[in-house]
Amino acid sequence: MPARTSHTAAEALRVGGITPLTTIDFPGRLAAVVFCQGCPWRCGYCHNAGLLDAAAPAPHRWSEVEQLLHTRRGLLDGVVFSGGEPTLQAALPD
Ligand code: SF4
Repeated sequence: MPARTSHTAAEALRVGGITPLTTIDFPGRLAAVVFCQGCPWRCGYCHNAGLLDAAAPAPHRWSEVEQLLHTRRGLLDGVVFSGGEPTLQAALPD
């Protein structure tokens, strides 16, 4: 069986949404935001209700995020992983 590459592992990340550019989510930096699908919390003020169900089909693939980031090389300072609850997903480090 071939070794599992980190690219393959990253494809398991369930991405519920992508913002190509934000000037506010990473203070002082230009960034993209990756919204991870799934959150066990139920905060009364949550404005991302569509991201709460971890079992909901993810509308985006990690490869889409990579593609976007390639087109933004030299323009973005960073990427914000938001949610949902990104740390719930085992694929996050990859
Ligand atoms: S996505 Fe954020 S605000 Fe919404 S329930 Fe989860 S932790 Fe709370």
